[in-house]
Amino acid sequence: MSKLKPHNYHAGYVAELRRGPVLPGGKRGWVTIYNARKQMLDEDGGRWVTVCQTHGTLLNHTSQCAARATMKGGSIKFCDDCRDAELGGEA
Ligand SMILES: [Zn+2]
Repeated sequence: MSKLKPHNYHAGYVAELRRGPVLPGGKRGWVTIYNARKQMLDEDGGRWVTVCQTHGTLLNHTSQCAARATMKGGSIKFCDDCRDAELGGEA
């Protein structure tokens, strides 16, 4: 495990970026891509899964390219909890 990529020891890890919500202390949470089967996640929506690590929100993709685009767009694109927080509600 490294501080730069804290989830890269997980089974099925593909990539991650700090594109999550702003956390106490000012850093952003992680958005991680996994191979769904290797991480024992549901494959119904596609074999590549982006995860908001802060809230545990998952989104499946049929291509790794699409998963990476979602990751770069940030957790706000797929995590309802992040969206609510961004809109000024309580996270
Ligand atoms: Zn979130």
